[in-house]
Amino acid sequence: PVDLFSPTYPAPDQVMSTLRRTGAGFTGTLLGHHWTEFMFYVFCQVFNDPIHGTVELHPLLIKIIDTPQFQRLRNIKQLGGAYFVYPGASHNRFEHSIGVGHLAGQLVEALRTRQPELDINDRDVLCVKIAGLCHDLGHGPFSHLYDQMFINRAKRPDGGKKHEEASVEMFDHLVESNNLELELEDHGLILPDDMDFIKKLIGGLKDPKAVQVSPWPYCGRPKEKSFLFEIVANKTNGIDVNKFDYFARDCYHLGMQNNFDHLRFIQFARVIKVKKDELNHICCRDKEVGNLYDMFYTRNCLHRRAYQHKVNKIIEYMIAEAFLKADNHIKIEGSGGKEFTLSTAIGDKEAYTKLTGLVINSPSVELAEAKKILERIISRDHYRFLGETKPRQVLTREKPVTQHSTSPETRSELNQPLCKAASVMSLFSTLCCCHSCQVSKLLPACFSEQLIRAARRHLIKWCEDKGFLLYPLAPSHKTKELAS
Ligand SMILES: [Zn+2]
Repeated sequence: PVDLFSPTYPAPDQVMSTLRRTGAGFTGTLLGHHWTEFMFYVFCQVFNDPIHGTVELHPLLIKIIDTPQFQRLRNIKQLGGAYFVYPGASHNRFEHSIGVGHLAGQLVEALRTRQPELDINDRDVLCVKIAGLCHDLGHGPFSHLYDQMFINRAKRPDGGKKHEEASVEMFDHLVESNNLELELEDHGLILPDDMDFIKKLIGGLKDPKAVQVSPWPYCGRPKEKSFLFEIVANKTNGIDVNKFDYFARDCYHLGMQNNFDHLRFIQFARVIKVKKDELNHICCRDKEVGNLYDMFYTRNCLHRRAYQHKVNKIIEYMIAEAFLKADNHIKIEGSGGKEFTLSTAIGDKEAYTKLTGLVINSPSVELAEAKKILERIISRDHYRFLGETKPRQVLTREKPVTQHSTSPETRSELNQPLCKAASVMSLFSTLCCCHSCQVSKLLPACFSEQLIRAARRHLIKWCEDKGFLLYPLAPSHKTKELAS
């Protein structure tokens, strides 16, 4: 129950002006079915976003945004070190998360409107929106740099955590520490079922193939609603609203062209039971396959030109090195007054809430070594790119990369920073029921490629250890480092 006369809610004239402005959702009765709709239009907030224009968010999403755990995302760079290469790439996880919450709502509402037989209810819609909004809560400073380049090398006894896992834990912590359980229930959610459901939406169905052989294992929603798990984190083919937002947003901030039209995808998306696994999947019209190819092409361009950009990767590697040097000197207070370091903070949600990209501005004198590395980045005296190679065989994620080198000894001893532009081609056959050869002979069969790179510093060390003579590759930059 909501008290309209409570001082925390807008005055009646404001309520009426909002109603006039939105012009929908109110049919004259405040009782029964229309009440929820009425509340939504009265208490939602409108954001202006450079990618999606005006974005209207449900009042419960606003409550989630106004918490320290979500506000923290304002200081997590979306593209890590790419800001040091592309001056426009200063955007943060905060605006991306709002965009994903908005698109998740658009897709699920579009399916509900077009296919009433799917029985998508208000609870489903709200849970999907919340999952979209909260899917990146677990990112650390500089996003992927933290969990992929730093935590891995910090050699934590528990092996560290991936940001997806941390997002689920942070969502729990956000709800608990801000006493939002009652708010969730006030807006019609049923706990703990809907909490479990939201967390599974964030993590995605871990192994879609396992679903085919075992009974439906996911609590929160029945098997018929399996398609809901493909909206925020689609583990079947990777086509989800998270990508729709970051492709559009990253292209915008990097100054690149995005040919993929996610609004068209949403317009033509339908849920169909797929024979192969007897599950309901989100499918698209056959004529939209060109648009999907554009999506994967955009992804490939973003990887080649920005995410795996050679200077970006070197700078990220150096920031990770600075983090390693600073690790034990940075103390962050967590739960029960305990202190955590840069690498252990991810294990304590209270400490992790305080850990953002601002950590590199810490004034402590013990951080002198780390600061030296950061100063080298600022003064553009970074490690130099030597070259790269492409493996003949595709390296799989399961096997360590070091085993695949043409010369294992060389590869492991170089201890090189590796950049894998790994990606998986979408399963168009299950999605569109059409084969790529039916579309066009000009389309590539695969959008995935891998690069192996060595930073110069490691090559110098390796040459020194092995007694090889190293010719200066770019003398103007190198003399100083060689002398030291
Ligand atoms: Zn994301």
